[in-house]
Amino acid sequence: MQLTDSHGRNINYLRLSVTDRCNMRCFYCMPKEGVAKKEHGAILSYEELQLIAEAAIGMGIEKIRITGGEPLVRPGIVAFLARLSRLDGLRHLALTTNGLLLAEMAADLYLAGVQRLNVSLDSLHGDTFTEITRGGDLDRVLAGLEAAEQAGFPPPKINCVIMRGINDGEILDFADRTLSHGNSIRFIEYMPAVKDDDWQRYSISGGEILQRITERYTLEQVDKGQFAGPSRDFRIPGARGSIGIITAVSGHFCSECNRIRVTSTGQAKGCLFSDEKTDLIPFLRPPDRQRLTAALQQIVSTKPERHGISVDGYVHKNFTMSQVGG
Ligand code: SAM
Ligand code: SF4
Repeated sequence: MQLTDSHGRNINYLRLSVTDRCNMRCFYCMPKEGVAKKEHGAILSYEELQLIAEAAIGMGIEKIRITGGEPLVRPGIVAFLARLSRLDGLRHLALTTNGLLLAEMAADLYLAGVQRLNVSLDSLHGDTFTEITRGGDLDRVLAGLEAAEQAGFPPPKINCVIMRGINDGEILDFADRTLSHGNSIRFIEYMPAVKDDDWQRYSISGGEILQRITERYTLEQVDKGQFAGPSRDFRIPGARGSIGIITAVSGHFCSECNRIRVTSTGQAKGCLFSDEKTDLIPFLRPPDRQRLTAALQQIVSTKPERHGISVDGYVHKNFTMSQVGG
């Protein structure tokens, strides 16, 4: 069953956040002090998250990515993933993680039926990594990447947010990793998530990132997979991994958007940067599958054509990325 929104986009992908808590504090995502602890019951139970997954699959969603906050810090996550992976109609189950707990958990995640891991990693230098994440340990993440492959996963895809003056000197080092380690790299434009009136100073466009790579390498275009969404993908000839560019801010992004999102507090969103959201809790407590499906369908049919961020003139919306799940 094909699910199409009112702008003709095929919507096949749900990003489902299981927590807003995290064991890191990346400065572009979370406030230094973390997020305020929610009152009991504010975060959806695994049973409720599964009801949402089932409703989404029932209406044509084929891929689910589990995100957060940091999904691996939530107790019981492996058993939940194992239940999701067995749902009829789900063709692809993926997880995005900061990788800090991956070394310990990779084998269990593989056995649970997770098919693909994305690991967020913005620097290959310990000091810069610690600065960006406000305390994260790069060695643990690198050990996690290795453990993932040992467990049987294909080389994890690396999500890398490039910020001018912080890690833009590492663009080529990351590109090299597609040759040396076989990881695919997704370069993501820095987005104004945490309130910062001068956020543009970090901005570096996907076009400039590509240009810097092509100063050293020839790139060939890669065909997009069915669930690829709004990234432009390339490959250095002979590399196992690909290089993707997500121009979330600078352009040509929204027309290929294929996803909806649900936060860990049950807010469904058609667009990361939109204020529009639907509270799913009334359809979960008590469960009403029909109304839940109708609410998700409404999110698809009212999905905005495009977001309103641009390097000039963006008025900041008050949310942190860790609450929506990236
Ligand atoms: N904790 C997990 C992680 O870091 O992979 C999953 C949640 S995190 C919110 C999901 C993705 O959002 C990460 O790849 C992160 O780099 C990205 N992200 C967070 N804030 C961002 C920002 N301001 N601009 C661009 N990407 C951002
Ligand atoms: Fe945590 Fe991921 Fe946000 Fe970093 S990007 S603070 S790891 S949720």
